Amino acid sequence: MPFKQNVYEKAVYKEPAPIRDTEHPFQAMIDRFDIAAKILELDPGFYEYLVSPSRIHITSIPVVMDDGRIKMFEGYRVIHNEILGPSKGGIRFSPDVNVNEVKALAAWMTWKCAIVNVPFGGAKGGVVCDPSSMSPGELERLTRRYTANLLDVFGPDKDIPAPDMNTNAQIMAWIIDTYCMNTRNTNTAMVTGKPIILGGSLGRVEATGRGVMSVTLSAMAKLGMSPQDSTVAVQGFGNVGSIAAKLLSGRGCKIVAVSDVHGGYYNENGFDVEDLIEYASNNNRSLAGYPEAQEISNHELLTLDVDVLVPAAKEDQITSANAPDVKARIIAEGANGPTTPAADRILDEKGVLVVPDILANAGGVTVSYFEWVQDRQGYFWSIERVNKRLDRMMKTAFNNVFVASEEYGVPLRTASYVLAIDKVASALKLRGIYA
Ligand code: NAD
Repeated sequence: MPFKQNVYEKAVYKEPAPIRDTEHPFQAMIDRFDIAAKILELDPGFYEYLVSPSRIHITSIPVVMDDGRIKMFEGYRVIHNEILGPSKGGIRFSPDVNVNEVKALAAWMTWKCAIVNVPFGGAKGGVVCDPSSMSPGELERLTRRYTANLLDVFGPDKDIPAPDMNTNAQIMAWIIDTYCMNTRNTNTAMVTGKPIILGGSLGRVEATGRGVMSVTLSAMAKLGMSPQDSTVAVQGFGNVGSIAAKLLSGRGCKIVAVSDVHGGYYNENGFDVEDLIEYASNNNRSLAGYPEAQEISNHELLTLDVDVLVPAAKEDQITSANAPDVKARIIAEGANGPTTPAADRILDEKGVLVVPDILANAGGVTVSYFEWVQDRQGYFWSIERVNKRLDRMMKTAFNNVFVASEEYGVPLRTASYVLAIDKVASALKLRGIYA
């Protein structure tokens, strides 16, 4: 097996961390890392290197608000690792984002890029703000000042941002404009998830949801399930959740439950997902009040009697408290970190096939890579080419992880970490430590 690791001296490891629920996503990352590191017999020095973020930038962002007051915001950019290439990762605007969360998200980007075989390292950014209470002008000034503060960090060969929760193509357009005005250079490859007219890629908006669809179908095939006979519940109806629901519905699955931050919606006959999307887009991105649905809570959604569960909202949704009640046979993690390490063990014992975040939602960074390639070539691909290559890369990644899980007798999550860590560690060994 290409991933089998014989190159390191046998080393003494600390035992994997005690299995627990955690509200600290970075610890959740380390808990999974520990299990894989033990399987790989990872050198202790490599262990320390690979769990440590390479750089953490914390920046104060002054913004003149519409009423003339100056308000200070805190922003982060964490570069976790650059061994395989320039670092890559989205920027999240959220009132409760914190540096611990951004560290975890940056590390997950490193492993994600390694699994789908794109030549990037991992990074993530965040700004503590509530975009729903800010005007477009305030958001623009915030975005531009965040970008200007991090001008030396970003760059097409250094660190490449992208959208994440509450950020979108417009925000990427302000980032590219600020960067290009300051560097006196038009360099569209410095950010991905841009509007098409500014060098964005066709298919990028749908890419993460499309990747979720692809791995879900692969997982169904492994379990002998047919999409036409399968019911699906999707938590979160933003970019990832709504597109995953739409595409799975297009493949014949019955989407019986969806939810957003306001609550859950159930229809045993299956939703018309296009109609849900239209309703949300005319209702301030909310499904609240959708007529053809029974209201349920987000907790109820997670434990519904469905075949497939797609958590596509945020971290720490499936915990030791609700994992025993999960009835789905497959969980495809559209969100980053929706399952806690304690829940992992429970789901594994129940025989639930969990397609982990670092594999399931890697479609976004894959098409971001395509966008970066197209920008650098100045040659743009058709949607057919983007989707075909995305599907191929997701299928290959799923199969590699599935084979590794059988080889090591471990769940897909551990197999994903084993493959990713092995790849980055092998590259580190070749590059060596610069002294
Ligand atoms: P988004 O902002 O477009 O949508 C988030 C959705 O989740 C919204 O419908 C929101 O109402 C809902 N939500 C928020 N809190 C909730 C809660 N407590 N319960 C139920 N629903 C809740 O964000 P997105 O881009 O779709 O990202 C969702 C997740 O997917 C995040 O974890 C993100 O990091 C991850 N992800 C996104 C991408 C991408 O390309 N957008 C790529 C990889 C991973």
